[in-house]
Amino acid sequence: MAEIESVVIVGGGQAGSQAAQSLRKRGYEGAISLICEEAYPPYQRPPLSKAYLKGELDEDRLYFRPASYYDENNIDLRLGARAETIDRGARKVRLSDGAMITYDRLVIATGSRPRTIPLPGADLKGVMTLRGVDDAKALRDAAAGAASAAVIGGGYIGLEAASALRAMGLSVHVFERMPRLLARVTSPIVSDFYRGFHKEKGAEIHCESDITHLVGENGALSGIALSDGTTVPAQIALIGIGVLPNQEIAAEAGLDCEDGVVVNESCQTSDPLIYAAGDCCRRTVAGYPGTVRLESVHNALEQGERIAAHIAGQDVPATDTPWFWSDQYNVKLQTVGLFNDYTDTVIRGDQDAAKFSVFYYKGDALVAIDAINDPATFMAGRQIFKFGAPLSKEDAQNADVALKDIVKAHKAKSAGA
Ligand code: FAD
Repeated sequence: MAEIESVVIVGGGQAGSQAAQSLRKRGYEGAISLICEEAYPPYQRPPLSKAYLKGELDEDRLYFRPASYYDENNIDLRLGARAETIDRGARKVRLSDGAMITYDRLVIATGSRPRTIPLPGADLKGVMTLRGVDDAKALRDAAAGAASAAVIGGGYIGLEAASALRAMGLSVHVFERMPRLLARVTSPIVSDFYRGFHKEKGAEIHCESDITHLVGENGALSGIALSDGTTVPAQIALIGIGVLPNQEIAAEAGLDCEDGVVVNESCQTSDPLIYAAGDCCRRTVAGYPGTVRLESVHNALEQGERIAAHIAGQDVPATDTPWFWSDQYNVKLQTVGLFNDYTDTVIRGDQDAAKFSVFYYKGDALVAIDAINDPATFMAGRQIFKFGAPLSKEDAQNADVALKDIVKAHKAKSAGA
């Protein structure tokens, strides 16, 4: 460890700040610089589309650590500083204020940014995206003065924001280009559930919608124009159509990038002195084919921790099966695994009571579980993946079979083997 005197971390979000904290927790004593483009100390994003948006959570509760933590732990936190370029030969990062910082190891944790919508009217006042705390404040303020909102994009963020905006009393129309909601992240079973659920809560859902332009009056949004000739009134619009990885700084430095900075199991990029973590990177996931770019808190935390262990010269913890969550109104969706290439589904629980889980199988192999208001199945599901406990489709759908007992029996059998 002695030869690593300085670690520079670009991006103080979920992954970057975790890497800094874990380095100190693991006893790394060298210099740590945490370069944050934003003016705020590192903070969590999930509440921005949930409790914080609704005004139910104070800003203080967003921060991972009190401001004093960074000084106390000798972390050079540079707020409002953007890393502009990496000089790999000289091992230096140039910041927007002209400063040059030398690194022995560099961590790129630059996250992602919302896609913008290439439509006429997208620059009207009232058309917004949601990524940072300033975006959430702007959306909340605009919602306070509006009666109608459009949400363009029926993914997690769009639907969470739709839930918050309905709770704030606005009329809400959700426009999704695909035939169903949440198409990128779940199956038609779960999409149908959410479509019905949001309609029940009073939102209008337009799937297969074809928006031609955003309509304005005096420079401000007034409606959403569709190709069938109708215009749906809306004073504000949230664009939630996915994100792009902030990989430019890595690509310009010649690191391998393919819709994300490509990393190996230790989160090293094509330059072993440079790591990448979180939304900006592309990785493999044990047990699943190909590579993925994961956009989740769990992924960012896990990679931040693994980088810290690797830099500190310690055993790198095993990876967990990825997991995700989304809160919409009073319904919590928790997912473990990657569902993409499933062939069969099995349902456990009661869809009408909004408490059920969908198990995704590829042949006979379980690949993912979506648990809706069913935390016990989610928790047991994580254990099933962790310990590789076999779960037949019959047992999965039989609510009388306790999943935790299956895990227990498997662990006992493995221990005795
Ligand atoms: P970020 O947290 O985005 O941090 C990256 C930081 O790097 C940013 O502060 C950025 O400004 C900074 N940066 C970028 N470029 C530079 C540069 N050149 N120099 C200096 N700084 C730079 N995930 C879940 O699992 N569950 C949820 O319920 C959930 N809800 C979400 C709700 C919202 C509204 C959003 C936006 C995201 C949500 N996510 C959720 C996703 C989760 O927050 C992200 O996956 C996670 O924040 C990724 O962490 P990160 O460190 O990669 O990126």
